[in-house]
Amino acid sequence: MMTRVLDKADIKAKYAAERAKRLRPEGNDQYQRLSGKFAALAADPYTPYVERAPVADHVTFAFVGAGMSGLVVGARLKEAGVGSFRLIDKAGGVGGTWYWNRYPGARCDTAAMIYLPLLDETGYMPSEKYVRGPEILAHCERIAKHYDLYDKALFHTEVSSIEWQEAARVWRITTNRGDDFTAKYVAIGTGPLHVAKLPGIPGIENFLGKSFHTSRWDYDYTGGDAGGAPMDKLADKRVAVIGTGATSVQCIPQLARTARQLFVFQRTPSSVDVRGNHPIDPQWFESIVSPGWQKRWMDNFVENMGGGFPAEDLINDGWTDISRRIRTKALGGTPLWLARLLVRLRKAFNIAPSQQGTARVQAAFESADIEKMEEIRTRIETVVKDPRTAEQLKPWYSQLCKRPCFSDEYLPAYNAPNVTLVDTDGKGVEQITETGLVVNGTLYEVDCIVYASGFEYGANFQLKTGFDLKGRGGQMLSNYWADGLQTLHGLHMHGFPNAFAVQMNQAANMVSNIPHNIVDHAATIAQVVAHAERNGHAEIEPTQEAVNDWVRLILTTPPSMITSADCTPGFWNNEGQGWNEKFRRSQGHPGGAQGFFRHIEAWRRAGDFKGLVFSK
Ligand code: NDP
Repeated sequence: MMTRVLDKADIKAKYAAERAKRLRPEGNDQYQRLSGKFAALAADPYTPYVERAPVADHVTFAFVGAGMSGLVVGARLKEAGVGSFRLIDKAGGVGGTWYWNRYPGARCDTAAMIYLPLLDETGYMPSEKYVRGPEILAHCERIAKHYDLYDKALFHTEVSSIEWQEAARVWRITTNRGDDFTAKYVAIGTGPLHVAKLPGIPGIENFLGKSFHTSRWDYDYTGGDAGGAPMDKLADKRVAVIGTGATSVQCIPQLARTARQLFVFQRTPSSVDVRGNHPIDPQWFESIVSPGWQKRWMDNFVENMGGGFPAEDLINDGWTDISRRIRTKALGGTPLWLARLLVRLRKAFNIAPSQQGTARVQAAFESADIEKMEEIRTRIETVVKDPRTAEQLKPWYSQLCKRPCFSDEYLPAYNAPNVTLVDTDGKGVEQITETGLVVNGTLYEVDCIVYASGFEYGANFQLKTGFDLKGRGGQMLSNYWADGLQTLHGLHMHGFPNAFAVQMNQAANMVSNIPHNIVDHAATIAQVVAHAERNGHAEIEPTQEAVNDWVRLILTTPPSMITSADCTPGFWNNEGQGWNEKFRRSQGHPGGAQGFFRHIEAWRRAGDFKGLVFSK
């Protein structure tokens, strides 16, 4: 069945109606944590807990989080000659999100050539354009071994407190394992999505069957493994999945293969575009590898995502396609050579785009987006055989309102006779009983519930990490950030000497390639710390004036489509709660990722560390 062709006004009206169905006054508070009565669901199913003696020593640099941030910063510091480096993580090993997310089918949506950091340095060739989770985890472990980062690392360890010691000019760190040690420098890189959340569905605690969150996959129960072995123990099980975000798009096809019956409970459909994965040819890889190649690739991706007119697109995928379409529309009749020249002149003379230019890009965005989303909706009709299911799987919002997904397996999974989509028309699951889930008054009895309900995004720093930084004069970082982030370059905080926050906000805010943010921050940290160490400085700290100037600049960032209050709610747009000051402070550089990277490279090149004070 082909639906009638809608015009732009119809589509926008439909978007608004679908959004209205999903807005919830409780915003982020609709979710609950894997704590209290759900604490057992948070346990690490992957690595046994081993008793160890507490540490009470001194290290030069302590890093909270052993994901890519900690690993890349550790690598760059080791290269810069800082040998005494300690990773601390609540997980049983390195890898961060890739340690926890071992659900079947886990894969990265960003091309491995730019997603796996330090390929140059480790000499590793990814096996495919988009690699699987286990390959990413193995690469994290490779980095840790290559740079000797397991030495001094503390795993299955949660930080309890980090306090600046004014007299000794060091940080004192305590943990839930009785550790009590000091570090000259400290950094937090706990990742934006590390606290798993459960939906606040009435009766959720009553379910008597098996349940787990996707980031704590129970292969003992399902059979199979993260490497792709079939989950044979599900052959006689009725399984429910709650949620249809990027995680579900990847694990549903795997569950569909083995579960006796799979019910997918959907509140909002994801937009699912073509994947087009392929193996990497070693000869081709050889031909592109030369010193600095990965940085060139990362920069090329940013340039293609950033609205310029680069001569080539090295990545050439669904992400860059989004930008290419907008650029092409925005060009109108302007010849490409002229558009490139204008962009170059604007950059050279630092000229902001005119209001007319910005309006043209916005109109181009809207029209390119509608075209793209129509393509995505039409693809569903051509793949999914049951017309009702196809209709229910259609996303009615702009592509960047929610995280775009890419898969060639997700939609065909709904053609399998054992798979049922239970669409809740934006309302969510009504109730969970001892035996199953209720939607529209119908009880779906199941043996197992898989919560693909995502991760906390917007929570306050201390609530999210479980610890706080106590800086100069006893000031807590959560207080310093109470009205929203304040940093210099997203990285340094006034009153918190020798401390670094490795995260994307107030910096490049590049969601399509998170490791690029990390690699860049690592370069800054290594340069700053090496300078302090070389010159015998005891402290590094930004002035509050530099922080204020930076925050003022961040607040000039215009609302983006991602954060638009017109979008269907989700964690990308503060659950549709609007563009408030706190949320605005978590945006990136007004010039986008390209603007930030250009700024920070020039800052590093200048070598005068403007905004930072070094003291002996
Ligand atoms: P998400 O937060 O994206 O998805 C959670 C899902 O749960 C949504 O579909 C949400 O619906 C649904 N949900 C919440 N409450 C209810 C309810 N009461 N009833 C029914 N459904 C409900 O989490 P994910 O784990 O899927 O993804 C998180 C992020 O992790 C991604 O955005 C991405 O950044 C990253 N990721 C990256 C991957 C990659 O590179 N390939 C793969 C997987 C994840 P609603 O949309 O209506 O809120």
